Amino acid sequence: MAIATVVASRAMVKQSWERELEIHARVLATLLEREGDMGEADLIDAIGRMKEMEGHRFTLILPDGRVIGESEADKGSMDSHKYRPEVDEAFRAGKGISQRYSATMGQSMFYVARRIPQEGEAKGVIRVAIPLRVMEAGIEESQRPLWWAFWGIILVAVALSVKAGLTVATSVAKVHHGLRHIAEGDFSYRIPLPGVPCLSELTRAINETAGQGERQIRALEEERNLRALILRNLSPGVVAIGANHHIMEMNEAARAMLGIGAVTVVTGKSLGDVVRLAEVMTLVEESEKTVNPVEREATLGDMRLAMRSTPLNDVNERRIGSLLLLNDVTLIRRLETVRQDFVANVSHELRTPITSIKGFAEALLDGTDAETTERFLKIIMRQSGHLDTIIRDLTEIVWLEQNSAKTLERERIPVAVMIDNAIGLCQNRITERRAAVSVQCDGDLTANVHAGLVEQAIVNLVDNAVKYGVTPESPNVEVIVTPEGGGVCIQVRDHGAGIAPHHQERLFERFYRVDKGRSRDLGGTGLGLAIVKHIALIHNGAIDLSSAPGQGTAFSLRLP
Ligand code: ADP
Repeated sequence: MAIATVVASRAMVKQSWERELEIHARVLATLLEREGDMGEADLIDAIGRMKEMEGHRFTLILPDGRVIGESEADKGSMDSHKYRPEVDEAFRAGKGISQRYSATMGQSMFYVARRIPQEGEAKGVIRVAIPLRVMEAGIEESQRPLWWAFWGIILVAVALSVKAGLTVATSVAKVHHGLRHIAEGDFSYRIPLPGVPCLSELTRAINETAGQGERQIRALEEERNLRALILRNLSPGVVAIGANHHIMEMNEAARAMLGIGAVTVVTGKSLGDVVRLAEVMTLVEESEKTVNPVEREATLGDMRLAMRSTPLNDVNERRIGSLLLLNDVTLIRRLETVRQDFVANVSHELRTPITSIKGFAEALLDGTDAETTERFLKIIMRQSGHLDTIIRDLTEIVWLEQNSAKTLERERIPVAVMIDNAIGLCQNRITERRAAVSVQCDGDLTANVHAGLVEQAIVNLVDNAVKYGVTPESPNVEVIVTPEGGGVCIQVRDHGAGIAPHHQERLFERFYRVDKGRSRDLGGTGLGLAIVKHIALIHNGAIDLSSAPGQGTAFSLRLP
């Protein structure tokens, strides 16, 4: 563009010179044409004046080529100019232009020639010339600002290109740096948008892709976390077992049940190396032979473990292993046993007096003497009384089970009053067993309780202490009341034979008795301590005992 401008400017300057020389030539031609035939002296004079005015070279040539007027050289020494290109062209076309070396001037010249006259038969040609260097100097002069502008533009363009190049390079480096971040998995990284338009589009696209990746990864992570959370908080143990019996997944519950430490790495390990319980492996192997769930129970230490193995399939329903579910059913099994025992015990406990009553009634029907009849009737009375006690105790337990601390009617009552009432109810037994019952209780101490139930609990504990803990050698029974937290602790202590440890934990079960015969002989039902436990629970309290064989027993009823 700049070059084209320079070239165009050169042509324009040359044209302007050409026009100027032509004007001179035309002026002279017109002058000469008007003057008619001018004498040689006049011509020289006219050319001289023109030369003075303009400083150009003027030459006047006749049609035969003779130079009859010349402003710069001796015309006599000049050869025929008929065939000088500009002269020849002017004779033929009226105007001639040329640019060539002049032997006369010894330098290159620019010529413009005009025929005289313009129309009709030629009388001569007037030629105006300037040295080419003058014209070139003019052109150069006129082009200097253009060249400056040209080089200025080039300089600015180069500077801009360098700057743009640097900007692009920096931006590409930033994009590359960002891409490395993202490629390393940091999908939250966003590349700053560069100033280069094409790169900023690319960067925006990369950032959007990273954003999508980040969203997808977050969704996957959330799903995985949810799955892990569910698995962690599931109470059944879950073990996913893959091909070759290697462990794919094991939750916390399964670890706890199988006695595997929380930090022990199990994933990828063989099931047999991690789980010592042989039944687990047997179950899994059995399950691999069928598409149906396989169930089994095993005992691990004190625990009863219910195991269930089902096929583990992939998304294409192809079996990839087994899913093992573990449930700690110790408590359920124990409760089942307690319930079964309870039913058996109730039947047994009821059947014993009923059998007795039935037997003696039949004997009476068969006919007996008066003394025997009276004896039998007394037995029937005692047994039916026992039956009544059992049924009352059972009804009591059912009532306590059906009610709760919320519905319990309470009153604030001095603890000493309840103890006095209870001891009063046990008085016959105390006298009968020659027991010495002492009470340590602050008269100001009160409790917010169901007085009737608490009195009954104290009766049961004192009655037991007198029945089982009093001997002629150690007749003392102490009832000691101490404030505890916001409530009270009522302790009933004897100094009898005590209770062996293996009996202690089952003592509060219904119908559980250490010595059945002795209990029955003493009119016991085996329900007394179960009732005490329920009374404690309905008050949100507790009952516990401390006992050692030969050292007596202390039952502590805690009422908050
Ligand atoms: P029971 O109707 O047989 O008295 P309990 O539930 O009151 O039933 O007591 C359960 C068993 O606990 C009793 O049969 C007895 O063997 C034992 N027991 C209770 N209290 C004492 C005690 N103070 N000393 C020794 N054994 C006791």
